[in-house]
Amino acid sequence: MGVARFALCKISSSLLPRMHRPSALRQMSVAADLKNSTIFRSQGLIGGQWVAAHDGKTLQVNNPSTGEIIADVPFMGRRETNDAISSAYEALNSWSKLTATERSKCLRKWYDLIMSHKEELGQLITLEQGKPLKEALGEVSYGASFIEFFAEEAKRVYGDIIPATLADRRLFVLKQPVGVVGAITPWNFPLAMITRKVGPALACGCTAVVKPSELTPLTALAAAELALQAGIPPGVLNVVMGNAPDIGDALLASPQVRKITFTGSTAVGKKLMAGAAGTVKRISLELGGNAPCIVFDDADLDVAVKGVLAAKFRNSGQTCVCANRVIVHEGIYEKFAEAFSKAVQNLQVGDGFTEGVVQGPLINEAAVQKVESFLQDALSKGAKVILGGKRHSLGMTFYEPTIVTDVKTDMLLAREEVFGPVAPLLRFITEEEAIRIANDTNAGLAAYIFTSNVQRTWRVSEALEYGLVGVNEGIISTEVAPFGGVKQSGLGREGSKYGIDEYLELKYVCLGDMNRK
Ligand code: ADP
Repeated sequence: MGVARFALCKISSSLLPRMHRPSALRQMSVAADLKNSTIFRSQGLIGGQWVAAHDGKTLQVNNPSTGEIIADVPFMGRRETNDAISSAYEALNSWSKLTATERSKCLRKWYDLIMSHKEELGQLITLEQGKPLKEALGEVSYGASFIEFFAEEAKRVYGDIIPATLADRRLFVLKQPVGVVGAITPWNFPLAMITRKVGPALACGCTAVVKPSELTPLTALAAAELALQAGIPPGVLNVVMGNAPDIGDALLASPQVRKITFTGSTAVGKKLMAGAAGTVKRISLELGGNAPCIVFDDADLDVAVKGVLAAKFRNSGQTCVCANRVIVHEGIYEKFAEAFSKAVQNLQVGDGFTEGVVQGPLINEAAVQKVESFLQDALSKGAKVILGGKRHSLGMTFYEPTIVTDVKTDMLLAREEVFGPVAPLLRFITEEEAIRIANDTNAGLAAYIFTSNVQRTWRVSEALEYGLVGVNEGIISTEVAPFGGVKQSGLGREGSKYGIDEYLELKYVCLGDMNRK
């Protein structure tokens, strides 16, 4: 039931002039295999049923690497979202009343199923998002880890007993689920951005309506199918997609939705925050970053090059924790630029299914145009391209890994997230100057420093106005540590023992008259 209409694009190889042909053909066979997989779904999930949009409208999901249409999914709006909210609300009572152990077992089963379908999920991520398969498989493990972690954490939602101020009273603090959660997620991590919200939400007894990005809904739907297979009851997890503002407005307007959790752009995050005021909902926001990566002159050069490479070029620069400004001490600026260039020019660009490829396409044409406009701005103000700097000869939305030197703090490349494979190098002289440049932004998500000086590590880590700091390390996200930003990068933390608090209300219970007969 409900298995997708799977619109494999009929393209003959002669019609693929700028595409990597063998790879495109390989993708079509991967896509055809996935079509027959038990995890492939292309309808919305409401109350345990796979459903179309009420008016039958659909939207296409494309492969960014080839332009191929992978599938059509329902173009849903307010009506379907309200149905999903009602289902989640109905399911809340029974799901929240299960014991923590029972919920934990369901989540554990879901984790096991995700891991046993790792290959298919990874392929789905590569197909609809474009990241190299190895990276996509890494995302599956990373995404699944949140389900495993919160399956365990479900059993540790402890309350408190507070010493009373009066002898005949007993004071308790209970932790209870906030209720129905609306989770809105982006395209750059089609699985992990969902699991790190839904994992803690379900673990503590909330139910959820998920709206994945319209660019990458198939991974979300596959994960939801596995949740059903794991025995997570109908209505506990619902998935709708289509008209994003309408879906968002329906979630915001409903008094039954008690929490919105969002990962995406700062502009949309601010709208959601304002919209949540109408019904005074809890809100968690994981918004844009503008990550500084400070390379001090006492850094180990190899470690710094490796770390900056990982922090910048992961997912072709399309993550909110990607290094956005590489701020290098002037004493090692030239040396670093040279070593970094050598490393970056070895990055193989191509289709995510091709062996050895580490840089996939950008998500769409708008993303490439943004990169181009940022670069144009920098060049017009005196920056220099020392590597790359243009669209890749593969065509589509492939872009050459790029390094720009002589970047100044007034350039767009330094002021905003480029969200692409462009590494801007800025210079500094003193530690104070490096900190000032790093903090000179409204964003405050991730920052990285490279140094071998222990005192400096502490001093600079404490001075950085960021939610996460990597020291001599470019990849720092993990399910066991709190992830989230300060300033306009957001509110709340995801992952770790702190992440579950976002989905819990504290209730104080005062038990009076203990001694009355
Ligand atoms: P990005 O530029 O990374 O796509 P967005 O903030 O536009 O970031 O998108 C992140 C998520 O927010 C996606 O699921 C998108 O569909 C959704 N979204 C975009 N606009 C709205 C809106 N007005 N209300 C609710 N969700 C929205």
